[in-house]
Amino acid sequence: MPALKGIIFDVQRFSLHDGPGIRTTIFLKGCPLNCSWCHNPESQNADIEIAFTAQKCRGCGKCVTECPERAIDVTNPYHIDRARCTLCGFCVAICPAGALEIIGREVTVAELVQEAEKDRLFYQESGGGVTISGGEPLAQFDFVLALAKALKERGISVAVDTAGYSGIRNNDLEKLKTLAKLVDLILYDVKLIDPAKHKFYTGVENREILSNLVALFREFSSKILVRYPLIPGINDTQSDIELLVRFLKDLPGVRVEFLPYHRLGAGKYTRIGKVYQLGDLVPMPAEEMERFKKRMTEALPLVVIV
Ligand code: SF4
Ligand code: SF4
Repeated sequence: MPALKGIIFDVQRFSLHDGPGIRTTIFLKGCPLNCSWCHNPESQNADIEIAFTAQKCRGCGKCVTECPERAIDVTNPYHIDRARCTLCGFCVAICPAGALEIIGREVTVAELVQEAEKDRLFYQESGGGVTISGGEPLAQFDFVLALAKALKERGISVAVDTAGYSGIRNNDLEKLKTLAKLVDLILYDVKLIDPAKHKFYTGVENREILSNLVALFREFSSKILVRYPLIPGINDTQSDIELLVRFLKDLPGVRVEFLPYHRLGAGKYTRIGKVYQLGDLVPMPAEEMERFKKRMTEALPLVVIV
């Protein structure tokens, strides 16, 4: 039987923001959400894709003559007509400036375990491990389960970063429970409580996402860390925070991490032929972020703000 394969777009070693200690974060491709603030837009498309970095391009035109599909036009701001591109990779190989790149690759569980093993000592000394992130891990559930099992069998701690929704309408709660039994930590992303705003800013409804979290928390409360990205003017308004407080009060003892909005992913959009929707939205200053966390700690005495 051929080895089970997943599609990833990156493996980041020495990560410090995706769970405790020093971690290796595996970024899967494919996400059913389309968050306006997404800082990894290359994670959204489940398939392998091509990227073009205009700042690197020397305008030599070699890729234009090399492309068998005539998909490249140097006067096109996105450079590539992605509807014509077959991802043959000829242009990537010929480009002297490294301006073209194929994003995403197929991997086996064994390859990723081998990669994770490189930092075993760091995990042991820091209390770290591997975080399986995305994209959405539930969207590649069979592969993620096999990977988590293989890592745990080797004594490596595993966290899964999920929005609790695969988009496949195929019993996500059971999938979440299966993973929660196996892994050490579930980083559960909540974007917005208001249903209409959630649909507007992420493209999907949040009813199932929130009900899955509530049900998962009943059985696996100690393994859950809720993460809420604070996007200025979008999900940090008075009414958004009131709704969030009301929701979190039903999860007594839950740990919650507020993630500050940043713009590090904004430049990636044009590289893959997309438009960043948030324009020049300004991140929240660090002091304001601290004041916000203090207010939340006072409003939610039974919730652990981390
Ligand atoms: S990957 Fe192949 S088909 Fe796509 S733009 Fe490059 S050369 Fe053309
Ligand atoms: S081959 Fe590379 S440097 Fe030359 S035009 Fe194409 S993308 Fe630009």
